[in-house]
Order: sequence, then structure tokens, then C-alpha cells
Amino acid sequence: MTPLRTAAIVAVGSELLTPHRADTNSLHLTGQLNDLGIDVRAKYVVRDDRREIIACVNGALAHADLVITTGGLGPTDDDVTREAVAEACGLALSEDAQVLAVIRDRFARRGITMAENNRRQAQVPEGAAPLANVNGTAPGLWIERGAKVIVLLPGPPRELETMYASLVEPRLAPRTAGRRLLRRVIKITGRAESSVDAVAQPIYQGFRHWPIPIETTILAARGQIELHLVAAAADVAAVNDALDRAVAALTGAVGPAVFSVDGRSLEQVVGQQLDARRYTIAVAESCTGGLVMVRLTDVPGSSAWVKGGVVAYANDVKIRELGVPASMIAAHGAVSEPVAAAMARGIAHRSGADVGVGVTGIAGPAGGTVDKPVGTVVMAIDLPSGRHAVQTRQFAGDRRLIRQLAAQAALDLVRRTLTIE
Ligand code: AMP
Ligand code: MG
Repeated sequence: MTPLRTAAIVAVGSELLTPHRADTNSLHLTGQLNDLGIDVRAKYVVRDDRREIIACVNGALAHADLVITTGGLGPTDDDVTREAVAEACGLALSEDAQVLAVIRDRFARRGITMAENNRRQAQVPEGAAPLANVNGTAPGLWIERGAKVIVLLPGPPRELETMYASLVEPRLAPRTAGRRLLRRVIKITGRAESSVDAVAQPIYQGFRHWPIPIETTILAARGQIELHLVAAAADVAAVNDALDRAVAALTGAVGPAVFSVDGRSLEQVVGQQLDARRYTIAVAESCTGGLVMVRLTDVPGSSAWVKGGVVAYANDVKIRELGVPASMIAAHGAVSEPVAAAMARGIAHRSGADVGVGVTGIAGPAGGTVDKPVGTVVMAIDLPSGRHAVQTRQFAGDRRLIRQLAAQAALDLVRRTLTIE
């Protein structure tokens, strides 16, 4: 049997061509297919239209060994994927008594009589294998066309993901070329993308061909850079070894700006540092409005090391809740190093946390001055050893981005300070 090496995905649904709904199914499927060593070569997003679906399926078949469609298997008139694919393949549809019985039974168990239009979901192209849907009524379909395979999956992500894992992956696994695709992600923060790229480029070159080709991609967003390394081969140990070497070389070259090579987020890394030192943390936030706390408390188990926090937006809250002296705010301004340090000290003291963090800044669009333009953010950390650190940063972006960059930088200040604690 010719192995399945390449895939194309056809996401069907008119709503996917509006700004209101994104095609996330293809992202999930791409990850799953990559794990099997299958490369996704093309993706289509198409509205619920028989002729357009036929055109996309034909295009997909020309690109790839495996075509997966998602969506359009519902009972209503606008769902036409089943009919379109049958027509594209020249296969007649007929009602499958067993599939119909399963659908009827699903309704009966909930005390509902099946609507007549649900019958359409029991239509199966000749020679196709229906795929049971445990989370919905629409069965999927597995169709063989010579050396090619076409799989029809339902649109709702929960239905699709379960069906893929239980019925599609086990059928695909023995049909792949035996290759496995492995991925490593190096996460970096506090360094510009161009500077990371400059040190990473020569290292990429060294791993491009030997012993196993490694493909590299750089992704940057909201103060975080990710280097994705992907390699494929039949010999998993050899792929792992090649990736380990590349990760070690890149991590060494980029330096302390690397915070994770194992998928952990920045807040997870900080949480583990705190946990290892038996420290608790509390955060006083002005311009970030709680974003730092949201990220810290997003980590499962964070109750072991998060004490709490205060959103101290107004000066009088900084004074009353954190003990920042009014005279200090008058003398230096609310966005200043002495105030950030006093916020960090104040929240640690008042909450009883070991580590205190203070963040204050100007997110804009208004409020900037010549001395302190929009994007000025000051953050401070206070440690039980009496050590403290203060940092003034200048970020560019709109209000939302500046707040996100500030939260990221504050977490990174904690990480870097704890690393040498
Ligand atoms: P359908 O299979 O067309 O009945 O799809 C039902 C629902 O699944 C749609 O209304 C969407 O909410 C969701 N859906 C369909 N296609 C996708 C997709 N590609 N990504 C994410 N959600 C989807
Ligand atoms: Mg639909």
C-alpha cells in the first residue's frame, strides 16, 4: 500500500468566512497529522456550496495523499459536504440502515422522535465506511479512492476531536511512511526578535542538513519569541538526538533570555522557581490592572505560592492599600522607580508574601509626557533576603499591547531575579 505522506484539509462552513468564527479544526488536525509524520500541504476554507466544495476537494486531491474535510455534515439543507464529496468522487449515495438505526436510537434515548431531515445523515457513499459519532448525530465517513483517502469529519470541535482520536488516527497510523515528526519549542523573552535571529541563523545553517534536517521557524508575539524546531525520520531516537543538539546550541547562544525548552509558559517557570524556594508572591499592579495576577493564578496549583494582589490604579489606593507615601508620589510621580519599589515592598509587607512585585506605567493613549512618554513602565521586585530590583522599560504599541508587554516583563523580572537568588 502506498504510504500516506501528505494531507490537505478542507474546512467547510460559510461562518468560517466571516470575522465571527475561525477555522480551528484544521489547526488541531495539523498537529495530529504532524505527529504521524504527515505534512499538511494545503488548507481550504470554503462556504457551504456544493460546487465550491467539489472544486476544493478536487484541488486537495491533486495536492495530497489524504484529504480531510470538516463541517457541513449536519441535517439541514445548507450542509452539503457529504453530497459534494460523493459527487467529486463519482460515488452514489444510499441510506445505510445501520447508521440510521444508530441515529434514531440516539434521539430515542433522549426521549425525542428523530426529525425527518436527520435521515440525510445516514446517507453513505458506496464503498465508504461510516465513522460513529459519540458526541453528536452526524457520522463521519472514510472513503478510499485508489491510493488516496478522503475522510469527512463533523464541524463541532468536540465531535471532530473524539472521532479523529478514536477512529481516524488508528486507521492512519499503519498507513504512514513510518516517519515521526518531532517538535521542540525554545521560548525566549526580553530580547529583540532581530537579535535572536542574528545569533540563531548561523546555528540553523549547521542543522539544516546533517545528520537529520531540522526545519526552524521563528515566531514572535507579545514580548515572547519562540523558536520552533521540527525534524522527521523513522528513527525516533536519532531525531530526538539531533533536536537535543540543536536546542542545546541555540539555548547556549541566546543565553538567559531563554526561559523554557519544554513547553512551559513564563508563569509556570516562575511558579516552579517560587515553589522550589518555598516562597510566596504578591503583586501590586497599576497599569497592568491584574494581568500579572491572571497569568500567575492561571497555573494549576498556584494557590501554593500566590498570596494575592491589589490593583492599585488610583494614587489614594497606592497610599492607603500599599503604604506608598503621598510625598513620594508628589515628588517623583506615580510612574517612578521609588513608587514601584514602594508598591512591591508594600504588597509583600501587607500580604505577608515573601516576594512582592510592583508595576506602574503609562499604557496610553493619553497621559504621556516628554519625560515619561506613553509606554513607560516601571516594575520592581522585593525579596525576603532584602534584595530588590527596579527596572524602567519603554514599550511601543497600543494600550492593550503595552499592558501585555508590561505583564510579560514583570514576570520576567521575577524569573531573572529568582534565578540568581
Ligand atoms: P457543521 O458540521 O457544519 O454542522 O458545524 C457545526 C459547528 O461546528 C459550526 O457552527 C461551528 O460552530 C463549528 N465548526 C465548523 N467548522 C469548524 C472549524 N473548521 N473550526 C472550528 N469550528 C468549526
Ligand atoms: Mg456548517
